[in-house]
Amino acid sequence: MGEGKSIYWSRFVKDLSPYRPGEQPGKENVIKLNTNESPFGPSPSVLRAVQAVLNDDLRLYPTPNGNPLREKISNYYGLSERQVFLGNGSDEVLAHAFNCFFRKDKPILFPEITYSFYSVFCKLYGIKNKKISLTQNLKINLEDYYIANGGIIFPNPNAPTGTLLSLDNIRCLLEFNTESVVIIDEAYIDFGGVSALPLLKNYKNMLIIHTLSKSRALAGMRIGYALGSDELIDGLYRVKNSFNSYPTSRLQIAAAIASFKDEDYFQDSIKKIKKGRDALSKGLQVLGFAVTPSFGNFLLVAHADHGAFSIWKRLRQDGILVRHFDQYPISNHLRISVGNEVQNRALLEALREICGTDTN
Ligand SMILES: *Cc1c(COP(=O)(O)O)cnc(C)c1O
Repeated sequence: MGEGKSIYWSRFVKDLSPYRPGEQPGKENVIKLNTNESPFGPSPSVLRAVQAVLNDDLRLYPTPNGNPLREKISNYYGLSERQVFLGNGSDEVLAHAFNCFFRKDKPILFPEITYSFYSVFCKLYGIKNKKISLTQNLKINLEDYYIANGGIIFPNPNAPTGTLLSLDNIRCLLEFNTESVVIIDEAYIDFGGVSALPLLKNYKNMLIIHTLSKSRALAGMRIGYALGSDELIDGLYRVKNSFNSYPTSRLQIAAAIASFKDEDYFQDSIKKIKKGRDALSKGLQVLGFAVTPSFGNFLLVAHADHGAFSIWKRLRQDGILVRHFDQYPISNHLRISVGNEVQNRALLEALREICGTDTN
């Protein structure tokens, strides 16, 4: 498909620069460590719950605002229902949030290296933005965000670096920044970070966004949600109800409720991922990789003697997919999702071949 070619497209569409997700190969025997999916399936009770709603009721629309899932999530986090907004994946929640809170006169602020969808939404909605550099060791320094703005967004932990900000840092930012909305994208918070949730009661301009795609192994189901003050959540429903009345299907609602009910399975998966992350990090360092300390289910790594792109290509030939971002200052880094034990071992084995032989 040609880019910017069709005479039928509006000029607006010609100028878009869509997000490029990591590839989803059709093939079975690929080791997929490129999109931070869970290597473990969802809880068996989730699968049963989805099967249980595969019946004639599918002729009926789901509840417009996603109840009873909205209720389940509000109970899980000790919030009121009015503080929960549901969407078709957190990407959709983010899209509505940009539309709702960030179409302001002043530019919004986000890290130079971060989830690349933020730039895409800015383009889609014509939102001015200022990208703030990371520190030398690839961290976010929130003090750099103490400037006039139309809104602030960052993931915590950040992606694709995996670095974590403390609640103290976030609280200080919220004390300073009261005039615009601060969105914290906590897609990876379950892997060892501390959620900003306790700050919600004091800061009505903070929005937290979560996804069930990573820690709850439901990327294929497309469920995300936002937590915030009634005021922000009401705004999101206004946008959503001007766009799609039913973004979460009966299957999505059933799957997500079952996931929140099975806390043991959830905690167990998290524990396994963290253990795998530690082992993988050690293994990679033995092979000469510098590993950015990560609080996500992925590692950002670089090798002193081997270029990231050539490693990426060799791994791909070996049937192992990882992610390379051709973007300063991480163009010599690779982002590797933490897999299961077998996948992690296969990755280290392949890297030993690639990085071990020709230099040392
Ligand atoms: C994966 C990811 C998302 C998107 O999650 P979905 O719910 O699958 O749309 C959002 N933000 C960040 C930082 C992510 O890594």
